[in-house]
Amino acid sequence: MDFDLRCMGTTIGKDRIIPLTFSLLNHSCCPNAKISYLNDLGTLRCIRPIQEGEEILVSYIDEFQDVLSRRYFFLELTGAKCLCPRCAANFGQGGDVLSRWICPSCREVLEDEAVHCACGLTVTAGERRSRRGAEQRFWELLGQETRRFLKVAGSGIAEEIKNSMSTVSKVLSELHHLRPYGSPASIKAASMLRSAYASVQRGSPQLNEFARRMELDYCKELAKHHSLLAEEVAAFHKLPSSVDDDVLRRLVSALRLHELVAPACGGATSLRRVGPKADGGYVVFDQGNWPICKNLLSYGVGTNVDFEWELASSGTKVILFDHTVHGLPRQHPNITFVQEALCDRSLPGAGNTLSEHLRLCHQGSLMLKMDVEGAEFSALLASKEIVGHFDQICLELHWLGRPHRSASALTKALALELLQEHFVLLHAHGNSYGDVMEVAGCLIPDVLEVLYVNRRLLSPTQFRPNAPPVELARPAVLVHSTARPKRKAFCPTTF
Ligand SMILES: [Zn+2]
Ligand SMILES: [Zn+2]
Repeated sequence: MDFDLRCMGTTIGKDRIIPLTFSLLNHSCCPNAKISYLNDLGTLRCIRPIQEGEEILVSYIDEFQDVLSRRYFFLELTGAKCLCPRCAANFGQGGDVLSRWICPSCREVLEDEAVHCACGLTVTAGERRSRRGAEQRFWELLGQETRRFLKVAGSGIAEEIKNSMSTVSKVLSELHHLRPYGSPASIKAASMLRSAYASVQRGSPQLNEFARRMELDYCKELAKHHSLLAEEVAAFHKLPSSVDDDVLRRLVSALRLHELVAPACGGATSLRRVGPKADGGYVVFDQGNWPICKNLLSYGVGTNVDFEWELASSGTKVILFDHTVHGLPRQHPNITFVQEALCDRSLPGAGNTLSEHLRLCHQGSLMLKMDVEGAEFSALLASKEIVGHFDQICLELHWLGRPHRSASALTKALALELLQEHFVLLHAHGNSYGDVMEVAGCLIPDVLEVLYVNRRLLSPTQFRPNAPPVELARPAVLVHSTARPKRKAFCPTTF
């Protein structure tokens, strides 16, 4: 950018209209500057040291959100996918470091969805509930004590002011047993107190001193936040860039897509979508039976159970597992909720394997649905012996193009080969928030929604490969992807 920051530092703009000079600033989820507005006056401030010649970047969205939320909001706002180094690092490796919790046993940071810590602690449903409860109580108490402080500060009684300030300090320190320094939660708390104390500074040295401390705390939290982000991005760039090509070829080859040709018996066989049109709906194999399946094991609730609801309403007995939520958004007599994770081993109180969960099912045909953010590969491999029991599997395959995220490329290839052994891949489409990646010369969506149908339900004349054989010598599109930006392609020449 050819503008001098000193010239760009402040500008007058109409409410909610970005002034021309500011509109030239590009986005990053790890920005080095921030625009703030006071009435019509917009000010651009640097928030970390900027080297000469370095591009000035601001965030168009709330950069404290996790990677999937950021991608969603950025896509909504601009029709493009953010390809900043922070997003690349988060997608490449795992979740954001900043949305994590502190292990109550060893004080290391844990991902929100973690079911165990390296120190040996199992994160049970009770543990998860109690840390969430503790955080909720913290916010209530902080709000209450801040309101009390504002009242006391007006009274001018020195002793009361001092007591109130010390109570607030104690409350604040509680948060750092739950969330790491530099986390969005601790920045929010520091920012809240900083504004409260700034609003009552009336020359009392005691108050001014405390306000300065709050300001300093806030700056320290922000500095920690930015150093953590920088570490995360640096760690990503240190990862080995090449993965064994043979493994990637196996991974891609195991994703051979087939199509149904004229149904052999009575024309009743078809693929149809169940559940919402957007995320949460799945394409299923319908042979005209009612219900489609007697039992459904379903992993991953999120905020929507329309898919499970529709099947439960037709008579399917559904068991829904999710360790990250307390309950279902709506109930159905045919849906049982279990607050457990899908794991590659048994972790009492936290999660279990597919084989163990299968014991909860009734007699009759079985169907599996999984959307478990990358845990699907090791979970399938850990329950090899029962994978073929399912009639069909609706699955969201995660991070096919990111060899270092959630599972290794080899684990992913082995799991896909296991599925290929028992099932025919009859449907695949890319998830719109994911990227399309090049893997072993083939373009595949990073997050792919698939339908696998058991080979024993199909006669060999009923299906045929609908993608050409994988030719690894030249790039080829292996699966048809519906993943496309909403408006125009993003061309981030400066990132
Ligand atoms: Zn980004
Ligand atoms: Zn631990």
